[in-house]
Amino acid sequence: MKLSFPEAKVEWHYDPNIKPQAVGEGTTLVLPSLLHRTLGFGPKDFDLVDGYVKTGIFKRGWSATEEEFLHEFPSPTVALHFNANKMQDYVYGRLKDHVDLFEHNVKPDDIDADYIIDCSGRPKDYSKHSQSAYIPVNAVHVNQCYWDAPKFSHTLTIARPYGWVFGIPLQNRCSIGYLYNSDINTLEEVKEDVKAIFSDFDLTPSEETNSFGFNNYSKNRNFTDRVASNGNASFFLEPLEAMSFGMASTVIDNAINYLQGLVPVEQANMEYVGLVRNVERIIMMHYFAGSKYNTPFWDYAKERGELCMESGKYDPAFCDMIKHAYPAGAFGSAPQTIMDSGQASMDYLHLSNLWWSPSFAQNLDGLGIRSKLEGVLGVNQASSVAAEQTAYRQALRDITDQSDFPTDIIWPTKPE
Ligand SMILES: Cc1cc2nc3c(=O)[nH]c(=O)nc-3n(C[C@H](O)[C@H](O)[C@H](O)COP(=O)(O)OP(=O)(O)OC[C@H]3O[C@@H](n4cnc5c(N)ncnc54)[C@H](O)[C@@H]3O)c2cc1C
Repeated sequence: MKLSFPEAKVEWHYDPNIKPQAVGEGTTLVLPSLLHRTLGFGPKDFDLVDGYVKTGIFKRGWSATEEEFLHEFPSPTVALHFNANKMQDYVYGRLKDHVDLFEHNVKPDDIDADYIIDCSGRPKDYSKHSQSAYIPVNAVHVNQCYWDAPKFSHTLTIARPYGWVFGIPLQNRCSIGYLYNSDINTLEEVKEDVKAIFSDFDLTPSEETNSFGFNNYSKNRNFTDRVASNGNASFFLEPLEAMSFGMASTVIDNAINYLQGLVPVEQANMEYVGLVRNVERIIMMHYFAGSKYNTPFWDYAKERGELCMESGKYDPAFCDMIKHAYPAGAFGSAPQTIMDSGQASMDYLHLSNLWWSPSFAQNLDGLGIRSKLEGVLGVNQASSVAAEQTAYRQALRDITDQSDFPTDIIWPTKPE
């Protein structure tokens, strides 16, 4: 904001008696470059935030195919893992002399300012928010596992019988969080099951744990001509793929565009709705894949995933993305056909900014959902139907090679 409006006077209103949320320690590619551009943050500062590079997201146990894979970032770019509390201290230290700081509890309506970004955290009530109809997890149990040095450089995203587990490697610890549905499973079940992760990844859990429930929600009307909500005050969709900071950055861009007169407030709101829908759909592709587990949680999660993908049929940008996300590793693994053709819609570009085509390609194949999702959306059908028919015709041709094929009868039309 300050960079876009250098003349503006910026005030920070902050209540030190309300603790910020101490989770949220993995990023997409967006945050490191944003931090670099705005604060000069870089590898020299990693020690200040226990930072460690993030090369991608390692996924195991999703879909019955039992594949494990790395959703990797395009080389040489990397994202970031960091200690959430220390990053807040770092940002505060870098900016405190450039803003007027007020340490008190305040409501947006009581602030005398031309424009307000409301980042006051989780809403007290959700009367101005909508709940996600699809996301199947609503609780988390986090364990801190200390180590001398990181053992891997990717985030772990491991499907388990009661949900899924993230693993975030920092310089001195690995944060393990088990996401589950507290209406289906108990914290005790989760505490028992997470032991498998400690053993699989050779981690030693400490006494430091944190368990809480959450809503998955977004604001009905995020932008007015005076206030934009952001962060937890605006939205939260569970942390699969760690997209919250990227979403927050898009909300800031939209607020800046509005303030610069580039978009009307209703367009900013429409783009926000599209952003939430895109992130939700990316998350739900994983549940659509299901997992190798056959449990009440997965019955529920898969059904939600299927419903969400069904809704994708009516979204041309999502259909275009799936249609053109060619298999990872194919020549030109960053398929640009739709971009180069000039047919990419604004909605497609927004989706692509969030998760570009190679991310879709890697996950469609890694999760084993490419042809099933194409079938649901009705895209690329001609080629897959053609492939099925080719296989069928070949099977018919092969019949005559079978040992018990009757050659000693008179065929009206003998298969050859
Ligand atoms: C289990 C879990 C894992 C997550 N993992 C990731 C991840 O890997 N990557 C990712 O991008 N996101 C992740 N997130 C989301 C991430 O944690 C949130 O996006 C982030 O914490 C939101 O921060 P915030 O500043 O909006 O809210 P908060 O951290 O809650 O801060 C709100 C602030 O507002 C202040 N405040 C509140 N009310 C007032 C008032 N009346 N007056 C003055 N000040 C006030 C408080 O003092 C506080 O500092 C995760 C979330 C969860 C639950």
